[in-house]
Amino acid sequence: MAIAGQYSVQTDRTNIPATMQAAVYRGVNDVRLETVPVPSIGQGEMLVRVHTCGVCGTDLKKISTGSHSAPRIFGHETSGVVAAVGERVSEYHPGDRVMVFHHIPCRECFYCQNKTFAQCATYKKVGCTAGFEPSGGGFAEYVRVMNWIVEHGTVRVPDHISFQQACFVEPVNTCLKGIYALNLRRGETVVTIGQGPIGIILSVLSKRAGVTLITSDLYPERLRIGSSFGLDLTIDASRTNVVERVRELTQGRGADAVILAVGGNSLIRTAMDAARPGGRVLLFAQTQHGEAVIDPAAICVDEKSLVGSYSASVDLQEESVRFVMDREMDLERLISHRFPLTECTQALDLAAHPQPSSMKVVIQPGSAWEGNQK
Ligand SMILES: [Zn+2]
Ligand SMILES: [Zn+2]
Repeated sequence: MAIAGQYSVQTDRTNIPATMQAAVYRGVNDVRLETVPVPSIGQGEMLVRVHTCGVCGTDLKKISTGSHSAPRIFGHETSGVVAAVGERVSEYHPGDRVMVFHHIPCRECFYCQNKTFAQCATYKKVGCTAGFEPSGGGFAEYVRVMNWIVEHGTVRVPDHISFQQACFVEPVNTCLKGIYALNLRRGETVVTIGQGPIGIILSVLSKRAGVTLITSDLYPERLRIGSSFGLDLTIDASRTNVVERVRELTQGRGADAVILAVGGNSLIRTAMDAARPGGRVLLFAQTQHGEAVIDPAAICVDEKSLVGSYSASVDLQEESVRFVMDREMDLERLISHRFPLTECTQALDLAAHPQPSSMKVVIQPGSAWEGNQK
C-alpha cells in the first residue's frame, strides 16, 4: 500500500519511454501515425497511459472539415492507467485505473450558474493533451492530464470494469444530458431516429424514464443490435415510412418526443413530422453550422419545440459514472471494431464510413500491453 503523500513528488520516469506513437492530425483528412515525445507533466498534473479511446463523431467531423488548426492529437473518450503524477497530486497514484474527461467547467461564471456548462470559457479549454494544441490526446500511448481535470474530471475505474466499458462515461454523459433536455414524462412515446451506438444509448436512457420507445434505422442489422438491448419496437426505415408508422402507433398523433441521432440535416423534416403537435424534437447530431429548411408553422401553429444538446454536463457526471460502472448497460457490446494504435488510420477511416455491421470503433494502445487487460 502506498503511504499517503508518498507520491507527492513526481515519480521517477524510468519506466516511461521518451517517445511514443500517436495519431497526428496534419490537415483535412490527413492523420498519420507518428513518433512524438511523451508529454511531460507539471504540478498537479498526471500522465495516463492510454488503454482504450473511443472514436467519436466529433473527432471525425474535425478531421474531415479541417475546423481546427493542425497539428493536433484527438481522442477524448479515454481510459487507462496512471503512469506518473506531478507534485501535489495525492489522490491518484501510478497504477490506478482511470477514465478522464477532457472538458470540465469552472462552475462559477455566468454560463455555469445558468447550467449551460458547454458555453463556459474554462470548459472550452481542453484539459488533456498528447502534445501540440491540447485536443484530447487519447489517440496516443500517453496523455497529459491537466490539474483541473485531475481534480474534477478524473474517474476511478473499478478492477472488475474493463477499460472498454469505462471509455463510455463521456458519451453516456452527453446522451444523458440530451435526454434531460427533453424533459420526458412517464408514459410518453419517444422515437429515436438512428441506431448507431449513440442512438442506442439515447434510447436505453430514454426507456429508463418510463417511456414507450420506438427506434428506426435504415440498417436492419442495427435494429437487431438495438433489440438485444431491449429496444423491441423498431421501424425498418429502408422499407417503411417512419412518419406514417409512428402515427399508426400513436393514434394518429405522432410521438411526444423525437430524438434525431443521425448527422446532417436531411432527416430534420422527418423528425419534426414524426412529433405530435406540441411535441419536442432533440437535435443531437447536428454539429455543423449551416442552414436547414424548417417549416416555421410546425413551430408556431403546431407548437412543436426544437431542442438541442451538445457535449457533457458536469452535473450528470456521477449519474453517468454510476450507469457505466454499475453496468446498467453492457456498453462493450456496442463496440464492433477494436484497432491497435498502429492501425489508427484504418480505425478513423472505418468510423468515418460506417458499414451496416460497424458500431462503436475504438483505438486501443493497450492491446499491445503485456497480460490480457481489457
Ligand atoms: Zn465524444
Ligand atoms: Zn464556467
